[in-house]
Amino acid sequence: MFGLGMPELLAILGVAFLLFGAKRLPDIARGLGKGIRDFQSALHGPPEQPAITVGAKCPKCGKEHAPDSIFCASCGQKLREEQKDTAPPPPKVN
Ligand SMILES: [Zn+2]
Repeated sequence: MFGLGMPELLAILGVAFLLFGAKRLPDIARGLGKGIRDFQSALHGPPEQPAITVGAKCPKCGKEHAPDSIFCASCGQKLREEQKDTAPPPPKVN
């Protein structure tokens, strides 16, 4: 890549080693990685926060749960009926 072979990469690493010293190289690499990560998160937008919406409370243990959860995460109490994924059969027309 970029027409660089192993000798060139080693030479660049050696120059960087001489310039920054052995102690600072890990910091520089870390900063580079952070910069790349920031760049990517800027490209793709901020990482999505898990939707922690304060919903209803579990009738059994009283812990709050997400409004769309079917079972309580703490005690496993069923909070509501599961959504049917099939539509009810159409009424018969005579
Ligand atoms: Zn519960």
